[in-house]
This record gives sequence, C-alpha cells and structure tokens, in this order.
Amino acid sequence: MICWIYCPDASIQVADGKVTGIDYDHCKGCGICSKECKFGAITMEAEKK
Ligand code: SF4
Repeated sequence: MICWIYCPDASIQVADGKVTGIDYDHCKGCGICSKECKFGAITMEAEKK
C-alpha cells in the first residue's frame, strides 16, 4: 500500500485493502510507486505502441 500513499495521481487501484491494478488512463508514468516500493513489486516499462 506504500505505492497507493505516494501516487500523486491516485492511479493505484485498491479493493478490500489490496492493490488490484493501475489506472493507466490517469497514471503519468512518474515512477514514484516503483521507487518507493521496498519489495520491488512494481517495474516501470515503456508504453508499447
Ligand atoms: S507511475 Fe506515478 S502516476 Fe503512475 S501509478 Fe506510479 S506513482 Fe502513480
């Protein structure tokens, strides 16, 4: 849930106290969630066309 706290665009989707996904329509790709996650659960990748 650290990513959820730090995400500046509220793009981390949560249900029943668990992260369920990322809202890519609002995520700006800043990478804060990936940097702050001490478990390495989030990996940043370039968007595919
Ligand atoms: S990359 Fe930035 S905007 Fe996107 S989910 Fe992570 S913290 Fe939020």
